[in-house]
Amino acid sequence: PYIAKLGPDTLDETTTAAEVEARTLSAPFRRRQFATLLLDQGFLGGIGNYLRTEILYVACIHPGQRPTDCTPEQIAAFAEAALVLPQQSYRHNGITNDLALAAHLKQTGYRRRDYRHWAFGRQGQPCHRCGETITKIMIGGRRCYICPQCQSVSRS
Ligand SMILES: [Zn+2]
Repeated sequence: PYIAKLGPDTLDETTTAAEVEARTLSAPFRRRQFATLLLDQGFLGGIGNYLRTEILYVACIHPGQRPTDCTPEQIAAFAEAALVLPQQSYRHNGITNDLALAAHLKQTGYRRRDYRHWAFGRQGQPCHRCGETITKIMIGGRRCYICPQCQSVSRS
């Protein structure tokens, strides 16, 4: 009964982005905030709190947005990131940042906690994409990190 309630496993390589996209826009999920949706194992399996931050950052979605508020481009970016990031993290020792960028930052003396992620745990530091300061917020009862510029609600 527990297993039956789980959403598709993001680490299962047979799960497709089209499947995730359709599920995200389906009636049970499309009007819920991404912040809480991503912590619900009934939506997608295998996403912990740091992956919630990283997936939304990569897809340029504010955690307070709902699927129904997003553009088709954001939903497509979300579906891809929801599979690519957990699988990359699993294979590459928890790194969710761009692998080339992470390797470069490591070579230039960054500590693991500063090169591992795009946004998670990086409050007060510059966004790797736009230079804006990463901010920590509490949403869905858990900490989440956003770039106020890349994940601005007015973008959609
Ligand atoms: Zn940014």
